[in-house]
Amino acid sequence: MQNHLLRALPSIDRMLLTPLALELAGEFGRERVRDLLRNVIDELRAEISGDAHNTEAQFPDRGGLSPESLENEIGRRLAIQASRASTPSLRRVINATGVIVHTNLGRAPLANKAIEAIAAIGASYSNLEYDLETGERGRREAHCRLLVARLAGSEDAIVANNNAAAVMLVLNSLAEGGEVIVSRGELIEIGGSFRIPEVMEKSGARLREVGTTNRTKITDYQKAITDKTKLILRVHPSNYRIIGFTERPAAAEIAELALRAGIPAYEDLGSGCLIDLAPYGVTGEPVVADSLRAGMSIVSFSGDKMLGGPQAGIIAGSRTLIGAVRKNPLMRALRVDKITYAALEATLRLYERGAATIDVPVIRAIAMTYDQLRQRASRMADEIGALGKFSVNLRPGSSVVGGGSAPGIELPTVLIELENSALSDSSVETMLRESPTPIITRVESGRVVIDLRTVSAEEEPLILDALKAMCGAPAASAAT
Ligand SMILES: *Cc1c(COP(=O)(O)O)cnc(C)c1O
Repeated sequence: MQNHLLRALPSIDRMLLTPLALELAGEFGRERVRDLLRNVIDELRAEISGDAHNTEAQFPDRGGLSPESLENEIGRRLAIQASRASTPSLRRVINATGVIVHTNLGRAPLANKAIEAIAAIGASYSNLEYDLETGERGRREAHCRLLVARLAGSEDAIVANNNAAAVMLVLNSLAEGGEVIVSRGELIEIGGSFRIPEVMEKSGARLREVGTTNRTKITDYQKAITDKTKLILRVHPSNYRIIGFTERPAAAEIAELALRAGIPAYEDLGSGCLIDLAPYGVTGEPVVADSLRAGMSIVSFSGDKMLGGPQAGIIAGSRTLIGAVRKNPLMRALRVDKITYAALEATLRLYERGAATIDVPVIRAIAMTYDQLRQRASRMADEIGALGKFSVNLRPGSSVVGGGSAPGIELPTVLIELENSALSDSSVETMLRESPTPIITRVESGRVVIDLRTVSAEEEPLILDALKAMCGAPAASAAT
């Protein structure tokens, strides 16, 4: 019964001459199209042998395959495969979750100025390691150095691949072979298996734990200082808070103790806020300059968390200590590229101009008010309602900073709740996620919700388009 189909299967070579294959070959190359065709034909052959095509149910829209329709079917499948093959692995998505620094979604979206800088520097040669004044070799570490130092209020600064690298570099440069005192309450794990004790071990420094999980006093640090002590480390417990019966010396107390003992004090700030975000409801996140002003000798923080720039680990501190980091051979392995410098410099300049709340997307999202969100949400709810397929409900909710920052802080927002009588909530969530520009939503109390805090004004029409396309789609396809 199926032999006539198997015999009629066209060869790869014949299929390669079809207009579709020729066109795709122009885009992907002939060999890639040959591979795709081989997959498609093998798959079809296996299906036919398994008799799948003799049942009407398998192809309700085509009523099974005939020898004449095989070529079309192969073409159809080839087109699907080719479209999959041409979709990049790393794609833009719309973050409608209201989680501002969403680590799974690439953390901070960059400011327009940063994008412009990346485009300009990426597309041409640059003075990355060239001194334009002398015409001689320059140092890449010169970039962003003074800008960071000015914003942090430090003597010197240097930029590494990320804050994990920065912690590694500081510990290795300043404490290899010696002891580093850390409070037990600060032996944290950041997502992605970054654990202070493990990083410490890799850095070649020995961990000297003091105090208890919930309470560490300055005298605990004091008693642990010996001639082996190279550094006191204070870690911002970014992603959790200990509440209740707790005690933790202030940065200034640690700094003073370290000064008296003649050893440096280092604070891993995690997120690294360059400005105080307490006026926008984000409390408990230390400001970089405050930590240095309190007397910390050296600090480090991420570039792509609450700073809102590219992935980077920024180290700021005294000239001597930063000098030691700069001379560390590990620096060569953990340095950043021109693209990072370009984006970071442009982002930092926005802070310097006092424009962060307007032009840095992460800070803008944090600073967005409930009223602004309510207005945007109600306009969008009207537009979604006008599609006639969703019942839309607005309700108060909360956005979070995310990225392991500011745990427990909730920023009041207005959520757009979607309901479609023909589609389950998980189908709505899935279909939005599978849109041409994937839209990532939250499902809360069994409802798909959109939080516009993390959606830019330019992205709103894309969400509407996706919802419109869903309205046109038959309900049955929603299950796939
Ligand atoms: C996030 C974080 C890190 C790691 O920073 P990355 O930039 O993600 O490498 C290190 N320490 C603390 C306290 C953090 O919050």
